[in-house]
Amino acid sequence: MEEIRRKLTEYGRKIVEKGLVAGPGGNISAREGEFVYLSPSGFFLDEIKEEEWIKVNLKTGEIYSDLRPTCEISMHLGIYLEKENIKAVFHTHPPVTIGLISAGVKFKPFFPDFVTVLGRNLPVIEYVTPGGEEIRKAVVKEIKNANVILLKNHGVVAVGESIKEAYTRSLIVEEAAKSIFVGILTGKIKYLKKKQIEQIENLEVEDYRKSLLKKQ
Ligand SMILES: [Zn+2]
Repeated sequence: MEEIRRKLTEYGRKIVEKGLVAGPGGNISAREGEFVYLSPSGFFLDEIKEEEWIKVNLKTGEIYSDLRPTCEISMHLGIYLEKENIKAVFHTHPPVTIGLISAGVKFKPFFPDFVTVLGRNLPVIEYVTPGGEEIRKAVVKEIKNANVILLKNHGVVAVGESIKEAYTRSLIVEEAAKSIFVGILTGKIKYLKKKQIEQIENLEVEDYRKSLLKKQ
């Protein structure tokens, strides 16, 4: 069995363990060469067996499975076609993030891992119907300049140059949401200043940490 199937199974479990999706929500995929492997529709992400990930030819759209792929297949393929370096797409439904973005709370850098893992720019997309061309168009447009996209009243799309990087971004965005929530509840939250963000971006050690994430 391909290594990519083993990894997707492993990270599908992690995503559920961390509470980033519940029930049959969310969908994840990874790319290898001209093929994309997607979660099947209606499955809980922690119950997908290695052989059940759905192989699709990115160029032709041919599906090599009897199962039906996630209804967000169009969005996943659209992202891979848009950005050559993306190797994984994780779409999750993290509860604290969804609550905050839907209430209009801004997600801006305010701790070092926010800057290095998520980046400066986290676009917010107004609600669109899931599973169709509308969401594909909206996400693909923003993914050119972002690693994480926030979908109002819906969830998050995080991409990475590896499965681990897409997973880490999914995790850190929800961690950020929890911290933002606590900050708002207990006082007036102070975000990092532009100069502080630049200093974090220029740390040599961060280049090393980022390169590790991309390799796995
Ligand atoms: Zn969704």
